[in-house]
Amino acid sequence: MEYNISEILKIIGSGNRSLIGDGNFKISRLLTDSRSLTYPSETLFFALTTQSGDGHRYLRQLYDKGVKSFVVSAVPDDMKSLEDANFIVTDNPLVALHALAGYHRNRFDVPVIAITGSRGKTIVKEWLNSLLQDDIVITRSPRSYNSQIGVPLSVWELNERTQLAIFEAGISMPGEMARLKDIIRPEIGIFTNIGTAHSSGFLSIEDKCREKASLLSDCRCVIYNSDDELISRCMPDVPVKLGWSRIDSTSPLFVEKVESGGGMSRLTFCYLGGEQQTVEIPFANEHDIENAIHCLATMLYLDIPADVIAERMARLTPVGTRLEVIEGVNGCLLIHDSYTSDFNSLSPALDFMRRRAVADRSLTAVISDLSCGEGATDEDYARMAELLAMAGISRLIGVGPELKRHAGCFNLEKEFFDTTEVFLEKMSVRDFNRELILVKGAPRFGFARICELLEARQHETVLEINLDAVVDNFNAFRSRIRPTTGIACMIKASGYGAGSHELARTLQAQGATYLAVAVHDEGAELRRAGITMPILVLNPTVENFHAIFTDRLEPEIYSFDFLEALIREAGHYGVKNFPIHIKIDSGMHRLGFLKEDLPRLIDMLKSTDCVTPRSIFSHLCAADDPMEDDYTKSQFEYFDECCRIVLSAFPGQKILRHILNSTGITRFPDHQLDMVRLGIGLYGIKTLHDGSQDDLRPVSSLHTVILSIKHWPAGTTIGYNRRGVLKRDSVIATVPVGYADGINRHLGYGNACMVVRGVKCPTVGTICMDACMIDVTDVEHVSVGDRVEVFGESIPVDTLAETLGTIPYEVLTSVSSRVKRVYYRE
Ligand SMILES: *Cc1c(COP(=O)(O)O)cnc(C)c1O
Repeated sequence: MEYNISEILKIIGSGNRSLIGDGNFKISRLLTDSRSLTYPSETLFFALTTQSGDGHRYLRQLYDKGVKSFVVSAVPDDMKSLEDANFIVTDNPLVALHALAGYHRNRFDVPVIAITGSRGKTIVKEWLNSLLQDDIVITRSPRSYNSQIGVPLSVWELNERTQLAIFEAGISMPGEMARLKDIIRPEIGIFTNIGTAHSSGFLSIEDKCREKASLLSDCRCVIYNSDDELISRCMPDVPVKLGWSRIDSTSPLFVEKVESGGGMSRLTFCYLGGEQQTVEIPFANEHDIENAIHCLATMLYLDIPADVIAERMARLTPVGTRLEVIEGVNGCLLIHDSYTSDFNSLSPALDFMRRRAVADRSLTAVISDLSCGEGATDEDYARMAELLAMAGISRLIGVGPELKRHAGCFNLEKEFFDTTEVFLEKMSVRDFNRELILVKGAPRFGFARICELLEARQHETVLEINLDAVVDNFNAFRSRIRPTTGIACMIKASGYGAGSHELARTLQAQGATYLAVAVHDEGAELRRAGITMPILVLNPTVENFHAIFTDRLEPEIYSFDFLEALIREAGHYGVKNFPIHIKIDSGMHRLGFLKEDLPRLIDMLKSTDCVTPRSIFSHLCAADDPMEDDYTKSQFEYFDECCRIVLSAFPGQKILRHILNSTGITRFPDHQLDMVRLGIGLYGIKTLHDGSQDDLRPVSSLHTVILSIKHWPAGTTIGYNRRGVLKRDSVIATVPVGYADGINRHLGYGNACMVVRGVKCPTVGTICMDACMIDVTDVEHVSVGDRVEVFGESIPVDTLAETLGTIPYEVLTSVSSRVKRVYYRE
């Protein structure tokens, strides 16, 4: 919907604000992230200042791309003379965004459902959408847009056609919910559940629960699990408290019985003391059952007839919430979006894709028919064509009869197939070369098979990396230090084994100050992958000055020899003021300068303008050991003294000081200085076991699948040298993961377990090069193809490290490069 600029100026309130430019200019789209620009001339850009950056930095670039309207806290000097740019100047553009979204919301008199809670928000939202969309037009949050920025952008989607809206709301800090509530103004509220994880910023879980529940205080109806005591206690008094219970027969919705089996569940329930009814859902795990009951309660409250509820719930489908990045064949990179395939989910996926674009890879989209309640309209396909063109897609592969029928809309290289089967029959890996490929299909098209075809490594063993967990861990450490302290993220050793490109991209977007790699090759690769932020190289060597200068990889300086060589080469290349990082040996006794070296070092640095000190740092050697705290203290003191000497030699120059690693940040935040260096904690590994790092989430999980299953009588021997002797009649599974994948041989002989269907299965006999055997006797319904966890949710990396008498760092970095890495966002 269109608004003109002077109207918006009025809407955003009374504070300090002014308008420069044309008040009659009309806009219809809001933008907060410059990289997501799609419709320049219709866009109003909000220059937000967040922890990860300042939107004002992108104003000029956006203007050059055709954006004319901006909400800013100050107009940059180089834009003041532009005649066709419109600026609304206000103290806080985020507050303005909230005000505008709130105003927009108030123009619609439609029921709004708000969903909050720790887990399941997106699934409940998507399920409600699919349960209700046959009868009414629904506007909902795209993906999981539920933050201080995501909610206003979601609410902005409300339009004349909307008959019902469903929005998610999530918070990470106290005080945030009140603002979201003003923007959403929900009539029906759903509280999914409350987790225990990452409560940093809140006094207690109860505190966090109350803050979340405050979203619902003016609702007409709240829906929640009344078996959860904490949630029940926090629920506001509203006209209809629709608590559901599996034990209390007096609750409004009493779910008397849940019978699960064969991948489905039958729920028997009574609503408001009425007669007993049943519904079936095609899911059997606890989370899905909980999510389904929330949906059931909502449908009942909305007076949907029982037979309709039963019929629709029986055909719920899984909601893919993941966006995965997978290395593809022939130099391709695959982005697999398993989220629903309707129009409103296309933009975020294209956006995710565009951020991975590099110069020499063209953009291809493999897309299915849109899934939509009433069926997608011609207009939807026309808009889809427009979006693809805007995103720079040069090749479209459409799957499904609807897309084929609309072939004429698309003005690019295009092919169409009626079904996924036909695609698989006609296409081969030779048809793809150095492309960035978005694979996005409605669930019924089974696009996972297309990804399988296009994946580079077909090996079934996968290291999965949860990028959202990386972000949460980053923020968990962020909350332990001052907002002004920088964070250098250590992604040496290929991101502690997790692979560095995706991590680097994620951390760059998150506002890390520096990335640190071990050797220049790792840094050069990141530059080729489009990483532009500062990179520090910890172990530079004298052979690679060329890469250091051309890729702007800032070296650690640890010796006079190296510094001399660097200065000489910098002169040779004509480089001036190249940033370097001075390493002080404060007690590790590995690399670095001592206090007595400093006068000579300072002289050398002062006598050249080729290089300039950017930071000074040191590394703690026993931060995790309280017995060594005196030694650690002496390291701090030694380092402080060195810093004083160096800083006083370069007055007026900003030289960053940093000494803390992950454990150091947790234990000695007083020594955060100007920057900290975050390593293992980013990957969700706890180095302390006193509860002080319980907010960290595991990032990596290694899993594989069962290749074969055999029954053997007691006494049989399994594997090399007959080392695995069966003590009972057993069921033994072979899994394709061995020491060449990084499974240490000491994990054989039952020293470690892998998890199948929730059951811990010990290894049997020796670990082979490419396979090993596990005892699955106690696993019910075990079958070939079952997923096997080596480490992850059920088996923490620490456990394996302990078994091996090593540290988690070694376990993580041992996963060999032949194991496929898959990155995903939840
Ligand atoms: C690896 C490394 C770190 C990070 O240490 P963690 O214990 O993983 O947090 C910090 N500083 C230096 C110099 C390192 O080499």
